[in-house]
Amino acid sequence: MRAATRSTCAYCGVGCGVLLTPDGHGGLDVQGDPDHPANRGRLCSKGAALGETVGLDERLLAPRHHGREIGWDAALQTVADRFANTIARHGPDSVAFYVSGQLLTEDYYVANKLMKGFIGSANIDTNSRLCMASTVAGHRRAFGTDTVPGTYEDLDEADLVVLVGSNLAWCHPVLYQRVLAARAARGTSIVVIDPRRTASCEQADMHLALAPGSDVALFNALLVALREGGALDEGFLRHVEGFDDTLEAALADDPAKTGLSAEEIDAFCRMWMGTERVVTVFSQGVNQSAQGSDKVNAILNCHLATGRIGRPGMGPFSVTGQPNAMGGREVGGLANTLACHLELEDPAHRAAVQAFWESGPLPQAPGLKAVEMFRAVGRGDIRALWIIHTNPAVSMPDADAVKAAIAGCDFVVVSDVTGATDTARLADMLLPATAWAEKDGTVTNSDRTISRQRAVLPAPGAARPDWAILAEVGRRMGFHAAFDYAGPAEIFREYAALSGIAAQMGRDFDISGLGALDEAGYAALPPTRWPVSPGRSGGRFFGDGRFFHPGGKARMLPVTARPPAARVGRRYPFRLNTGRIRDQWHTMTRTGLSPRLSAHLAEPFLDLHPEDAARLKVSAADLVRVKSPEGQAILRARITRDVAPGQVFAPMHWTGETAPSARIDALVAAVTDPVSGQPESKAAVAAVERF
Ligand code: SF4
Repeated sequence: MRAATRSTCAYCGVGCGVLLTPDGHGGLDVQGDPDHPANRGRLCSKGAALGETVGLDERLLAPRHHGREIGWDAALQTVADRFANTIARHGPDSVAFYVSGQLLTEDYYVANKLMKGFIGSANIDTNSRLCMASTVAGHRRAFGTDTVPGTYEDLDEADLVVLVGSNLAWCHPVLYQRVLAARAARGTSIVVIDPRRTASCEQADMHLALAPGSDVALFNALLVALREGGALDEGFLRHVEGFDDTLEAALADDPAKTGLSAEEIDAFCRMWMGTERVVTVFSQGVNQSAQGSDKVNAILNCHLATGRIGRPGMGPFSVTGQPNAMGGREVGGLANTLACHLELEDPAHRAAVQAFWESGPLPQAPGLKAVEMFRAVGRGDIRALWIIHTNPAVSMPDADAVKAAIAGCDFVVVSDVTGATDTARLADMLLPATAWAEKDGTVTNSDRTISRQRAVLPAPGAARPDWAILAEVGRRMGFHAAFDYAGPAEIFREYAALSGIAAQMGRDFDISGLGALDEAGYAALPPTRWPVSPGRSGGRFFGDGRFFHPGGKARMLPVTARPPAARVGRRYPFRLNTGRIRDQWHTMTRTGLSPRLSAHLAEPFLDLHPEDAARLKVSAADLVRVKSPEGQAILRARITRDVAPGQVFAPMHWTGETAPSARIDALVAAVTDPVSGQPESKAAVAAVERF
């Protein structure tokens, strides 16, 4: 056996280090890396089964044009010509890229540079829009930048961990193990705030099953309690603007919106107030909401008011769903951001990036966010669309409409590792990309640690890295010098140099200390938390009270709880929540290859409370039809008190490929947060009947 190679897990934003050893027959032994700071050798079930998912079944091995295999030269020229011709006839905003938190940072950087710098449109958005765009908006409103203040060590050093809209035990299992280790070592208390009783509740000291979407009311109640209990940090509040208005809004809000008893709210507030080292972890239950940004700010308000931020064992902590959601945020892969946390709408920032890239003028306004983008595709406003490593025909809300929009688009390119997805089947041009364990680059995890992904398996067939495909299309569109990269290390150096300019302009993101890495240095790059510059390295932000708004202060934001956009009524009497299960990932294109993982929960299901089941005459394992105004699904009923009466839960993983009748996002309305553009995926309405 060869010596093991250090790399990073393909799945969630914990970003666990793995040791990969090819077996010489196309297989791979995967172990946890004891030296990686994120996991210290631990892996969850998905990470441990990665070796079972590297086979070549279903792999896309050559470019295909309308189903017919063609060579790379013809494929790339066709893509470049179709995009160039569309832009020439209809303008730069008639084309779009929809990319993915699965991309490596170097791929992401090139895609963003091509669209914003050289095509001259901001129509690049990412499936991370569905994942944590509300956190990006909340961070920027509070801090002036999209900065994660803390580190994973804070979970080890906290005395209270509050999980808000996060089933950490299943969705970020290795972080949950760290919390349990802290509990064993120092007695850390755990509170879960979630309408549903999840696996994370099993070890919790308190579970607050609040009404769906009412998080703002709960954190407003906490802010009021902190003031009344004398728990504000007056010294830290000198670094914060907006306290009075925020408190006024909190006082005017109604804690009864949470559906919790006064005793439950009081017990939570007393626990929070009485514990200095509090980390509030939040995830998709907060983000995937028509009020997601306000929910984030409601949480940040409490930490800012008490100075519980940027110090050991305390702070708000967003945990991301994808391996490189954070890298995508850093390179500006969202339609409303620029590279290195620079601002698209700031003329000085645009000028700096334009000068650095030696590009044409950058777009002055944000591009189309994911939901808007697919609506524009459906209207025919977007005429050429490039989808990279994501499956929007399944994962977008109102998925049937998205599927129809893609099918009707003039020219659709899909880069992926497989042609067997609902989206890939709609492509005019399919481009084979290298997969995890076949490609080199970097990812950033939820605590700002940049880790290398390393190639240990050969690229199969004609598959190429995404950065190389994108750069070649850029060259063929006439932008030769800007995309003449020799490899990912060169892209990374350029990116690091741009971050140094951003840091000089007062931004948080700074990896300029890595800008001089040569090939050997890049190859050997150990996990490194940013910022990385001569004067700064890898620690927490904001403990010193310095923020990134003009004037250097943080901003508290007045927020008021609103109910979910879709109203439960006679026709659709159930609140439908969607989410992940422990052993599957997104639309199962990789985890579905592992028999071991599929054994955990083998088919799509609907969780239903016993009282509702009795009323509907539904027994355990019956098939039920679930209908919403947008669509319907047929699912296996599970009768459980984990959901409250009137609420149902269904997993999001199954697709038209694996279970044609169970595409749950076909039932979710395309309602979005007005600030972040993130869809409300956890509060649809539905009717349920026996099938
Ligand atoms: Fe991979 Fe996330 Fe599991 Fe770690 S916790 S092994 S990153 S899926």
